[in-house]
Amino acid sequence: APWRATVLTLFPEMFPGPLGVSLAGRALAGGIWSLEARDIRAAATDKHRSVDDTPAGGGPGMVLRADVLAAAIDAAAIAPERPKLLMSPRGRPLTQAFVRDLAAGPGPLIVCGRFEGIDQRVIDARELIEVSIGDYVLSGGEIAALVLIDACVRLLPGVMGKLESGTDESFSDGLLEYPQYTRPQLFEGRAIPDVLTSGDHAKVAAWRHAQSQALTEARRPDLWAEWQARQPREQSRTS
Ligand code: SAM
Repeated sequence: APWRATVLTLFPEMFPGPLGVSLAGRALAGGIWSLEARDIRAAATDKHRSVDDTPAGGGPGMVLRADVLAAAIDAAAIAPERPKLLMSPRGRPLTQAFVRDLAAGPGPLIVCGRFEGIDQRVIDARELIEVSIGDYVLSGGEIAALVLIDACVRLLPGVMGKLESGTDESFSDGLLEYPQYTRPQLFEGRAIPDVLTSGDHAKVAAWRHAQSQALTEARRPDLWAEWQARQPREQSRTS
């Protein structure tokens, strides 16, 4: 069965949105993955179709009701092996390693929060895994869900051609990507580094690896420390 994403949202019209074009859009049209956006409001039971209420204990804003969201999750009737995610600024950070895991599986159910968030009891009762796309606050989980799905879909077999291969890019080996160049050879007085036009593949690979290391060390000390810790002694720096 193709990889699938089931999204629970108050704004199903936001899907597939940007995922309907380019790489992800072609793969969607080609049946490599599928997307179902389900309206949480369809699970509301009262005559006003309400999905939220004021926070217990007081404070600003509204909270998504546990009973309505649980009913929406249950109505989606997803297979037990599919992960159930909740987009949330409190969640585990979305990393390329986590994306690879998700892309290798059957595809997740993704709950998109709104307002001040959702009632804790549905997170606990349905064992939702909270996932964050970064240390900032969005107005809703939909854009975060689009980010997560996009990162997964491009890794599915048949989505990226050889030309856009994911094997050499940032995070694939724990390092940031080396700088890229293309024609023209001279741009505003700046030349492409000689090594890249030398035709010496081993030298090119060594130069790129050294650039990746230097960039990671300068920009992301956190990734750099992790990468160094994983290297066998002696060859922790090949540049
Ligand atoms: N009151 C919440 C807090 O302080 O943690 C923020 C709620 S936010 C306004 C509304 C919804 O947007 C959240 O329930 C979540 O689904 C989504 N969201 C916001 N920032 C996010 C992030 N960095 N990563 C993933 N989802 C996010």
